[in-house]
Amino acid sequence: MKFDTKVVRAGINPEPTTGAIVPPIYQTATYVLEEVGKDKGFDYTRSANPTRALMEHNLAEIESGKHAVAFASGMSTVDAVLKLLSAGDHIVSSDDVYGGVSRLFNQILARQGLSFTYVDSSIPEKVRQVIRPETKLLWVETPTNPLLKITDLTAMVDIAREHNILLGVDSTFATPAILRPLEYGVDIVVHSTTKYLSGHNQIIGGVAITQRDDLAEKLRYMQKSIGAVPSPFDCWLTLLGIKTLALRMERHSSSALKIASFLEKNSKIATVTYPGLPSHPQHEIAKRQMSNFSGMISFELKGGIEAGHNLLNRVRLCQLAESLGAVETMITHPASMTHAEVPREERLSRGLTDGLVRLSVGIENPDDIQDDLKQAIDSI
Ligand code: PLP
Repeated sequence: MKFDTKVVRAGINPEPTTGAIVPPIYQTATYVLEEVGKDKGFDYTRSANPTRALMEHNLAEIESGKHAVAFASGMSTVDAVLKLLSAGDHIVSSDDVYGGVSRLFNQILARQGLSFTYVDSSIPEKVRQVIRPETKLLWVETPTNPLLKITDLTAMVDIAREHNILLGVDSTFATPAILRPLEYGVDIVVHSTTKYLSGHNQIIGGVAITQRDDLAEKLRYMQKSIGAVPSPFDCWLTLLGIKTLALRMERHSSSALKIASFLEKNSKIATVTYPGLPSHPQHEIAKRQMSNFSGMISFELKGGIEAGHNLLNRVRLCQLAESLGAVETMITHPASMTHAEVPREERLSRGLTDGLVRLSVGIENPDDIQDDLKQAIDSI
C-alpha cells in the first residue's frame, strides 16, 4: 500500500459481527475469561485494548515500523523511552527541544541519576564531540520546537552505530507523511499524537515506534507497568484523524510555504525560519530528507518582544494557543508559553529570543491566514 492508502486503511477491517466500516470503541476496563488462563488476547485495558491495538497497528505501518506502543501523552512517551536507561547513563540531546522535554530531563530525570548534554544536533561534529563512554542515548528532535532546526539523520545513525548507542527521534513536527526516521536506521521514533497525527485539537496522546523486537518488548512493559495509557475513545479519535494525515500535511505545507514567503518579504519582520525557504540554514538537508516541509514557521518582528506581543493580541483568525499541528491556525509566544520554564539564559544561548513568534499554519484558506497576519502586522 502507498502511504496515502495506508493512513486510511492499514490494520482496519470491517468489524466481524456487524460489518461496521469504522471500528467500534472498546470502552472497557476488563475482559471476561472463558476459563482460568484462557483469554481472547485481552485481560485488562492497561495492558491492551482492541481500539488501542488498532491504532498502534496503524501507526506502526505508517511510520515503517514493526511495533507501536501508545501512551497518554507525548511527554509520557518520552518518559517511557528514557526509562529504558539506568542511573549513571548519559544522554546527548538536541539543544532546541520542546520545553516540556527539557523540563522532564533537567528537573525530574536528572534527579534520578541520568545526565544530559545539550548540543546543536544540526551540526553532527558537535554531537560527536560530546559523546562519552557512558552515553547510552542520542535524542534528536527534527525539525526542532520552536527554532525548526533540521538534523541530518544519516549522520546521526552513523554516530549512534559507531558508539553503539540508541538513537531516538522526536518526529512530531514532521510526521510520517513527510519523514520516516526508521527508514534511515533510527531505533525509536516518538510522536506527540496530540499534534498532526490526530490533527484536530481533541486529544492528548503519544506513541513510540520501533522495528526492534527487544525495544518494543521493553516499551510494552513500561506501558503496562506505569499505566500512562490513552483512553479507547482517544485512540478512536486519533485513528479517525490519521485518515486525513496525508491530505492535511500537503495543505499545511503548501500554506506554510506561502505564508513564510509573505512574512519574509514584509518590512516589519526581522527573521523568518521555515525549512522550505532557501534562506533556512539547513534547507538542503530538509529537501533531501523530507518530502515536504510541514506547517510550522517561526519569526521575529523588528520591534522585538513588544511588537511580538502586539501581534499576538491583534490576530483574529489565528488563535493564540499553546498547541500546534491541528486544522486551526495557532500562534504562540514560546518565551512566555511553551518554553517559559526553560531558563532565560539557556533560551537565549540557543537562539530562542524573547521576541520569537511560532506559527502553526492550519488548513483554512491560506489567503485568510495571510490577510489576518497582514492586518495585525500593519497595525503595529
Ligand atoms: N514533543 C514535541 C516536539 C512537542 O512539541 C510536544 C508538545 O508540544 C511534546 C513532545 C509533548 O507532547 P504532549 O503535549 O502530547 O505531552
